[in-house]
Amino acid sequence: MQQMRIIITAISNIFLCFSLTVIAQPSEGKRIALAFGDGPVPGVTELLLKQLDTLQIDATFFLVGQEMERFPKQTRAIINAGHQLGNHGYSHVSLANLPLSSAKAEIKKTCKLLQHHGYRERPTILPPFGNISKELGNLLAEQKFQVAQWDLEPRRHVDMSKPEAIADYIVQNAKDGSVVMLHPMHEHGAEVVTALPLISVQLKEQGFHFVRLAQIIDADSNESL
Ligand SMILES: [Zn+2]
Repeated sequence: MQQMRIIITAISNIFLCFSLTVIAQPSEGKRIALAFGDGPVPGVTELLLKQLDTLQIDATFFLVGQEMERFPKQTRAIINAGHQLGNHGYSHVSLANLPLSSAKAEIKKTCKLLQHHGYRERPTILPPFGNISKELGNLLAEQKFQVAQWDLEPRRHVDMSKPEAIADYIVQNAKDGSVVMLHPMHEHGAEVVTALPLISVQLKEQGFHFVRLAQIIDADSNESL
């Protein structure tokens, strides 16, 4: 049983997002996190949540602000299902190509939307396309925001129209602390949903358990102290 404790921190920052931070306790066994970028999108969101619930998988969703505004029902469904949420910008533009003030506004607006929908944890940031300027990266670090990192991204290596290929790639390359990045809200949603049971069964056989991204990031931070 994993234990999490919530501590209240008095963090003052220009984004004025949240005052709660979740600290994860180290857990037994091999950990792996599933992270979903983009959306929410009606249809795929419901299928994905149902599949994750059936498989008892805790996951992490990086949502786009303007999509949260379009689809509040799906946004709340993800939050109510207890998954971790992250900030994937407001309009899904490359933050590295924006003036710093505009890039900050993209992050801040999406933070406020997460808060508006009742999400109380401090969001990890996933910059669209993985692009971020050094300036913004430094600023986010100063403000104690974590920027998402991952080591497994099947779409760069396999034919995403084949659920077995998605599952095989993840199962064969997974290691303790791996973070898998998937984009079912953008493309190949049905295939990713179909791949999940294949991934879950095989990884559990290998002694993995699924955790939220924060549990891997926080454990790594503790190790480096
Ligand atoms: Zn994206």
